[in-house]
Amino acid sequence: MGLESQLGDNIFTTTIDKFVNWGRKNSLWPMPFGTACCAIEMMATSRFGAEAIRFSPRQSDLLIVSGRISIKMMPVLKKIYDQMPDPKWVISMGACASTGGVFDTYTLVQGVDGFIPVDIYLPGCPPRPEDLIDAVLQIQRIVEQESISPKRQSGAIAS
Ligand code: SF4
Repeated sequence: MGLESQLGDNIFTTTIDKFVNWGRKNSLWPMPFGTACCAIEMMATSRFGAEAIRFSPRQSDLLIVSGRISIKMMPVLKKIYDQMPDPKWVISMGACASTGGVFDTYTLVQGVDGFIPVDIYLPGCPPRPEDLIDAVLQIQRIVEQESISPKRQSGAIAS
């Protein structure tokens, strides 16, 4: 009695990329890094059923940076990013995380993409929870298009 007899008349064909990406896009595990007002909007996203956000970088594959990042804080954020296993994706939520926003000061990072690769830049001050959900949907579309070979280069700066 082989596998064929178990499948019966059912036929299932796909490519390995589609199969793996289907699993990845439907099991995104967000790692929140919230520091300021944008983080409140990120927390509000949980009312849409995104309660799976957990502070566990070693199980996460989606980093959400929301709020101002100080230069002193950046090494911590970089370490958390490095602790996340590949493949991983990053959302930069809000003007401050993406550009420093209105805070053009010597204490703040003027865009986290100078230190970690960013896949989605979410504009706004702050973006609404619905915008964050849309960003996650866009991440899912990115995951769909990726190939498991060659491997995504960890630490590469997004253009
Ligand atoms: S972008 Fe606006 S809402 Fe978000 S952290 Fe900066 S000042 Fe606050």
